[in-house]
Amino acid sequence: MIKIDQNYINGEYVKSSGTETQELINPTTKQLIGHVTLSTESDTQRAISAAKNAFVTFSKTTVEERSQLLQRLHDSVLAKVDLLASASAEEYGSPIGPSRGRAVFAAQTFLHAKEALKSFKFESQQGKTKIVMEPLGVIGAITPWNANYTHICGKIAPAIATGCTIVVKPSEISALQTKLLIECFHEAGVPNGVINIVNGTGAVVGAEITRHPDVAKISFTGSTTVGKLISKGAADTLKRLALELGGKSPNVILEDADFDKAIPMAVMIAFSNTGQACHAGTRLIVPEKRLAEVKKIIKDTVAATKLGNPMEMDTVLGPLVNQKQYDTVQHYIQLGLQEGGELITGGLGHPEGFENGYFAKPTVFANVTNDMSIAQQEIFGPVLAVISYKTEDEAVEIANDSIYGLAAYISSTNLERARNVASKLVAGRVLINKGVHDDPYAPFGGFKQSGIGRDSGIYGLEEHVEPKAILGYE
Ligand code: NAD
Repeated sequence: MIKIDQNYINGEYVKSSGTETQELINPTTKQLIGHVTLSTESDTQRAISAAKNAFVTFSKTTVEERSQLLQRLHDSVLAKVDLLASASAEEYGSPIGPSRGRAVFAAQTFLHAKEALKSFKFESQQGKTKIVMEPLGVIGAITPWNANYTHICGKIAPAIATGCTIVVKPSEISALQTKLLIECFHEAGVPNGVINIVNGTGAVVGAEITRHPDVAKISFTGSTTVGKLISKGAADTLKRLALELGGKSPNVILEDADFDKAIPMAVMIAFSNTGQACHAGTRLIVPEKRLAEVKKIIKDTVAATKLGNPMEMDTVLGPLVNQKQYDTVQHYIQLGLQEGGELITGGLGHPEGFENGYFAKPTVFANVTNDMSIAQQEIFGPVLAVISYKTEDEAVEIANDSIYGLAAYISSTNLERARNVASKLVAGRVLINKGVHDDPYAPFGGFKQSGIGRDSGIYGLEEHVEPKAILGYE
């Protein structure tokens, strides 16, 4: 039985002062695998204090010193990608193949920040004014359970690059992966107090980070509901905010698309990480006159997609993370049926033979209208809504009719046409004929209620500094 009762504070493993624990359950088998101790406000304050002290020295380090540290962080995370991928498969059922890919990407995040540093100007002069980009201070990072290591590394990299220090509160249901990451950071020789990690709940540790006056910025990834709470909690101390929130991303298939490629890709975009992905393309917007063809390709694609043990390399769909997520998915499938969606494949209950884990049936509804719950609300599971359109303008209108604006996808054989549609979509990232977010320099973040601010590349660095104007350079 695994017991995780330590935080990482000021370069040391420090026992949590909490007395409550949370169970860690393998979602494939529903077996108990361990416990994580939930930390207290005083553990959190200790971490913030360590980060504050470390900032005094770390903020004065050179770009060269920080580049070397980023390189070491990359190397040490890369050395553990297989372990991280296994922990992710064990702890939340994410299939091991993509999990490994995400671990490699997590390691690369440090190299991307190192690369972005090369062109980042910390000082410049405009007229008689010198402008200095000063690091913000202590960053409070709060991350979700899905893709734990990608989010944690993605928040640490720009903080380190700019000379900030950081306190991370990972999701309490991804403690195995966090434990491995702490080992990576320790082995990379991070100066004491620069990276601090506190396990615990959002209500205790997350809330304390959010209100603490010594935290300059909250970098949050998670649901829109919690993002709004954090926004309110951070208001009293006027913290800088980066909120990477939920999505209900449209995937627009234009009439001239290669349907044999575009539709199977659309299924994968919707079902990646078993649908537990913020950028999942969960609204498939297709030309009405080709609906019959679309339905057939979807059915064949889902039938050929392997659902099963996440530890096997060819598994695409694993279980959902926990009972709560399983129940949420069942609730939305029920709503889809009640609201008149036409079930193409899937439905309520477990897939046959997978009753012992939190497995849900990959489910696709056609005849969905954009006002239905399954088209408007983030489900975070393998449920795809197919919505048909008559004209391209209507397709754009449907795509934009959402409170979210995280990602959008377009398939077309005519690039010019696709780019024209891309210019009309309200989303932080638009992918043309692509299912993979493969450019590390592309800023990532959302329009509307998908969030505030951007991660990645030069934009990520800009959001960790404050410009100071010094007048008097005549
Ligand atoms: P969540 O919002 O429930 O939790 C995220 C984190 O916030 C956790 O660490 C949690 O403990 C903490 N938290 C909860 N209440 C808090 C509070 N009152 N104060 C401070 N912290 C608090 O999200 P989740 O279920 O872990 O993850 C799924 C959600 O994350 C989905 O909505 C998904 O779209 C979103 N997400 C967004 C992105 C993105 O880049 N936009 C990426 C991945 C996931």
